[in-house]
Formats: sequence, structure tokens, C-alpha cells
Amino acid sequence: MIFIGCHLSVTDGYEAMGRTMSSFGGNTFAWFTRNPRGGKTKPADPADAGALMAHVRSEGFGPLVAHGSYTMNLCSAKEETRANGLDMFSKDLERMELFPGQLYNFHPGSHTGQGAEAGIAQIADALNRTLRPDMTTTVLLETMAGKGSEIGGSFEELREIIDRVDEGLRAKIGVCFDTCHTWDAGYDIAGDLDGVLRHFDEVIGLDRLCAVHFNDSKNDRGSHKDRHEKLGEGHIGAEAMKRIALHPALAGRPFILETPNDDEGYIREIRTVKEWQSGGD
Ligand code: FE
Ligand code: FE
Ligand code: ZN
Repeated sequence: MIFIGCHLSVTDGYEAMGRTMSSFGGNTFAWFTRNPRGGKTKPADPADAGALMAHVRSEGFGPLVAHGSYTMNLCSAKEETRANGLDMFSKDLERMELFPGQLYNFHPGSHTGQGAEAGIAQIADALNRTLRPDMTTTVLLETMAGKGSEIGGSFEELREIIDRVDEGLRAKIGVCFDTCHTWDAGYDIAGDLDGVLRHFDEVIGLDRLCAVHFNDSKNDRGSHKDRHEKLGEGHIGAEAMKRIALHPALAGRPFILETPNDDEGYIREIRTVKEWQSGGD
């Protein structure tokens, strides 16, 4: 069973996103919890959030994947940036409880010159200060392309973050596997998907892989660029994307398209993935 959808705008509210995704033919979606460039958010309407959750249940959607702001950097060398990030993070997680049991993914952060060790420690510290044993949300670290001083360009770095989270909170943490980022980081998901997933399982554990960002890449493997491409039009390619979508180790996870598309393009890609699943070409 594949859950497939794309990023949607929250402009018209939560329930509207659920209806839009149903009209697109999908059964999961992602949204930014606040403007991707940061800043203020509108106060959340609990009734609207409840209406979305009712839609999700009645339509048999998979888990939803909210995305934290790109400006949130929990391991910046600048203290003020870290403090802002922590504030956004805790407010986002508070709000996520309006959507019980869903997923929230974020970019672990960029250490901006402090070194990976220091960055990893700061990210884990932020998680320890913000996660709660009674929260229903699972917080996902995204696999990153390793651009600049990004943390999370290797599975080992993500594992180190998880290892430093208090044992009682570790069950709240998972990973969002971004196919473009993982490829750009150097993992050969086109030529050796089984090997990459086996490596992920050994280092992190596939049970923590809770969501997939399903993107082709504009660049060669190992480019560390992070430029997404439409399905089948990039360097990962259609055949490999299809193998990823159908891989049994990823079954049941929400697949979120973050490809450069308009609505029509997303509708087409959702249809393509559903056709792969039903055995057509
Ligand atoms: Fe992301
Ligand atoms: Fe992503
Ligand atoms: Zn990206």
C-alpha cells in the first residue's frame, strides 16, 4: 500500500488541504507549519484541524507530514538563531497536537562552521528540551544532501543525533528519507537501492524510516547540491524512482512529492505512482 501526495499550501486552512488532496487523487500530504522563510503564523483553528482529521480518517489517508521552517536552525553558531529555532520548534510541536499521531519533519540544521560534532550535540539538546514523553507526534530528521555545513548528509550523523536523545524520548524520533537529498549526498539509490536500505537499517533501523520525500534530482550522485527534479526527469530516473516506490521495505510509508510542479504536474505524478503500484507502466 502506497500513500502518495505532495506539499500543499495552508492558505485556505487545514480541511481545505485534505479536500484538495482527495481531488488530486492522493492520500497523504505535507504542509509548512509556517512561512518557509520563517516569521509569524496565523493562530491555528482547532475546529478546522479537527475537520481535517475527520477527513483523513474517512478517506483512509496515510500519516500526514508537516514540515518545519527552513529558517529553523537548531545548530547555528549564532545563539540568537538557535534560540529562535528552538522557539519555532516548540511552538510547532505544540500545534502538531491538534493533529494527533501525525508526523513532523525538519532539517536537522547547519553547523555554520562549528563542526559536525558541536552541531549534532546542539540538535540533540534541542530535541531533549522540546520533546515530551506524552506527545503523539513523531518528529522526523530529514536526510540531507550535505550542502554547505548541513548535518544529516550521512545516516551515521542522524544516528548520532538519535543516540544523544534521552532514552525515554527516543520513541518520538524517526527519519524522513528524501530521495533527492540521499542521492545528492552520494548514496546510490538508483544502482543499489537494496544496499542503501540495508545500510540504513544497520545504522539507524528501518523501523525509524517513517516517511519518504519522493523527488528526482537535477544533479549527479554525490553533488551535494539539493536541487529537486520532476519524477523521471532527473539523474535518479524513472526506473529507479519506480523501484523505490514499490520497495517492500518502504511499504506503508507516506511518499511526499516535493518536485518542481504546478497542480497539474502533481496530479500527473500522483497518478503515475498509483499506476506503478497497480502494476501498470
Ligand atoms: Fe525538507
Ligand atoms: Fe525534502
Ligand atoms: Zn531539498
